[in-house]
This record gives sequence, C-alpha cells and structure tokens, in this order.
Amino acid sequence: MEVRSVQVGNVTIGGGKGVLIAGPCSVESLEMLRTIAAAAVKSGVSILRGGSFKPRTSPYSFQGLGVEGLHLLDRVRREFSIPVVSEVMAVDQIDPSLGCVDMIQVGARNMHNFPLLSALGRVDKPVLLKRGFMATIEEWLMAAEYIVKEGNDRVVLCERGIRTFEPWTRNTLDISAVPLARMLGGYPVIVDPSHASGRRDILEPLALAGLAAGADGIMLEVHPDPDKALSDGGQSLSIPELAQLAGRLLRRMAQGDNES
Ligand code: PEP
Ligand code: MN
Repeated sequence: MEVRSVQVGNVTIGGGKGVLIAGPCSVESLEMLRTIAAAAVKSGVSILRGGSFKPRTSPYSFQGLGVEGLHLLDRVRREFSIPVVSEVMAVDQIDPSLGCVDMIQVGARNMHNFPLLSALGRVDKPVLLKRGFMATIEEWLMAAEYIVKEGNDRVVLCERGIRTFEPWTRNTLDISAVPLARMLGGYPVIVDPSHASGRRDILEPLALAGLAAGADGIMLEVHPDPDKALSDGGQSLSIPELAQLAGRLLRRMAQGDNES
C-alpha cells in the first residue's frame, strides 16, 4: 500500500523527507518552552511537541498545565513559526486544543479510547496516533480506522514501544511494526525512541534503526535541565545533546534512508 502524506502546518510527514519532532514531555512554563523551541528550530527540528494534559501513572504526579499549557504552545508556535503537537486524553479536551495546536496526539494509554478516536475523526486537524503498549499492529491499525471512518484521514502513526519482559528498557521498540504499519495501513510512521526506551543513552541507535526500517520521522523528548523535569527526565535529552543527535539524524535522513 502506498504511504499517504499528511500535512501539519507547513510540514509534510510521509512525503519521503524525514521529519524530526522534539520537545518537552510536559509543557512546564513559557520560559522553558521558549528555550526548547529556540533550540529545536536551530537544530532543524520541524515540529515542536509538548504535553499539556498528561497521562501520569500516579494521580499524585504532575498532571500537566492543562488549558494554560495549550495557550503557551499557541504563543510559542507563533513566535517561532513552528507547528506543535500536543496530547488530548478526553473528548472535552479536543475543543480547547483546536485553536492552539497543529496536530493532536492520542497517547498509548488512549489508543483504545474509541469515543475519543471517533470524535477526532470529526475534526479538521491531523492526528498522531501512538501505539498502545499492549496493542497488536492490527489493533493499532483498527484504532486508526476509527478516526478515518468519521472522515479524517490525516492520521500519522507513532511506534513508541510495547511492554515486554525486559526490565532494562521502559518498553521494547518494535521495529517490525514500522514497515508493517506503513505497508498494511498506508500511514506514515514516526518512531519515538524516548518512550520506547525510557533512557537517553540509547536514543541514537534506536532512532537510526527506526529510520533504517523506513520510519517517516523521529520524535524525541528534550528538557533544558533533564534532572529537574516534571516528567520523563531520564529519557530526555539536554539541549546540547538534542543539537548533536538532531544533526546526525538529519544527515542520515538526507541520505534518503527513509525513502520507500
Ligand atoms: C508522551 O508522548 O509524552 C506520552 C505520554 O507518550 P505515550 O503515550 O507513548 O506513553
Ligand atoms: Mn513523556
């Protein structure tokens, strides 16, 4: 099946040219978002990510800035002319997001939230659909179908690792899912080595493996001070680390490894 291309602001995902998405796990403040956006743009990142509604394992952990975070994303995307992607966890979070973001993310924990998927099928906004950590590739493609069935075919998939018996990584990056989801679903696929591994020391080999498998882009978490991050610090790159890895990935992408 031919892979469709999906337009996100001025960026095309799935058009044969690899795309880098990067940003903080959670939007924490205007200052941190600006710092990251400036570094991202300078490093060749074409889409900024940042969570405002955070699906945290513990209800006592930082839950995100909510609507306030959306407004910060809106402000920063205008200031830096960069499209942004942010997660929604519930149908009532879609409306406040529409005017503030360029792409809506469905996280791994909500891949099976069928009312949410159907509602996203009825909006005019591209959707980044992450794979559930216990979902088969077929279940993931069927989740995408819930969005497409309602009329929105601007779906991009994101492989972010599945849960296995291996404790040295947070999840296990399923490389087979990249060519299979592209071939059998016809959607562009982004690889997220940050959530797949949970550790910043192996992001580069995982990202390169993703590109070798045909991924249409890579999504990375970054933080100005990873040790102080309010979520996912252990897997977040520092700003100099982002600049270095982005440079390497962009060079690899320019060699056409992501074309198929
Ligand atoms: C995220 O992107 O910050 C996130 C929560 O990812 P996932 O849903 O893949 O765990
Ligand atoms: Mn995260």
